Amino acid sequence: MKILGIESTAHTIGVGIISEEGKILGNARATYKPKKGGILPRESADFIAQNAPEILKEAIDKANLKLDEIDAFAFSKGPGLGPCLRVGASIARYLSLKYKKPLLGVNHCIAHIEIGKLLTKAKDPVIVYCSGGNTQVIALAGGRYRVFGETLDIAIGNCLDAFARELGFPHPGGPKIEELAKKGKQYIELPYVVKGMDLSFSGILTECKKLLRQGAKKENLAYSLQETAFAMLTEVTERAMAHTGKNEVLVTGGVAANSRFKEMLRIMARERGAKFYTVPKEYSGDNGTMIAWVGALMLKSGIKQSVSESRVEQKFRTDEIDVPW
Ligand code: AMP
Ligand code: MG
Repeated sequence: MKILGIESTAHTIGVGIISEEGKILGNARATYKPKKGGILPRESADFIAQNAPEILKEAIDKANLKLDEIDAFAFSKGPGLGPCLRVGASIARYLSLKYKKPLLGVNHCIAHIEIGKLLTKAKDPVIVYCSGGNTQVIALAGGRYRVFGETLDIAIGNCLDAFARELGFPHPGGPKIEELAKKGKQYIELPYVVKGMDLSFSGILTECKKLLRQGAKKENLAYSLQETAFAMLTEVTERAMAHTGKNEVLVTGGVAANSRFKEMLRIMARERGAKFYTVPKEYSGDNGTMIAWVGALMLKSGIKQSVSESRVEQKFRTDEIDVPW
């Protein structure tokens, strides 16, 4: 069986094709970059709609297949931006109806986890999922991916992007902050906000903006922002590992590209005698293959959905669905 997946939660239109055994057959994507400021949902949705045909063709060509050879169509059901989600869902519904093949609405966060597990061979990790719109520490418990800790306000990626914007850098700003942070020499005290197992990043952002206006050096602020935010995440991840007794940690999402973040998590894992896994860059950011893979897992475990059940869910939660596979 060959499953095609469509990703369109935010800035990326991604199409991927995978076999039921997990062999990646084709992957293509295009990412919207706002001219200035952050992501505008409608603009991004237009970008996705305009680029979808070409990306679909590119993925299918790479896989050396035709659309009528696909056995099921999967799409990102959420969480994400409504206008963007609806474009991907509409394409998947059309393909499913036209070729009379199953339609599968996939949870985007679970897709990040499952492609990570497939590619790293991690068996039962605590997952640190950090992206532009999500920040969650997750582990499988009692048949569901439970969220052990998460942000109470903005995502870590959003925090980095917003501060970078304040410094005049275009979206996405995470890589710029990383570059600046390497030149930082002095740690500036910032709000370290861990509440129970949850985290908050908006106070750090406000404080960074304030200190910048008061003349603090941007390199030192970038360095301190990274040290504070990543230490908070590492602390929560370590506690999730201690609580669940798991001895693997898997980091994914766009922010997983950050070397300092990975270094902190790697040290923590080593000190606990745990294994540390990172997802290859092509598949740690948003992509269609991860959606296709969860579609395959759902199909193999007998999950079926009708077109009338295929509404997108902007706030679709990781722990909302059973994981029977
Ligand atoms: P995603 O939403 O998973 O596509 O990830 C995008 C997010 O990852 C954006 O917020 C980026 O700023 C962030 N990001 C990308 N590269 C890095 C990096 N090297 N360090 C920190 N954040 C990054
Ligand atoms: Mg994502």
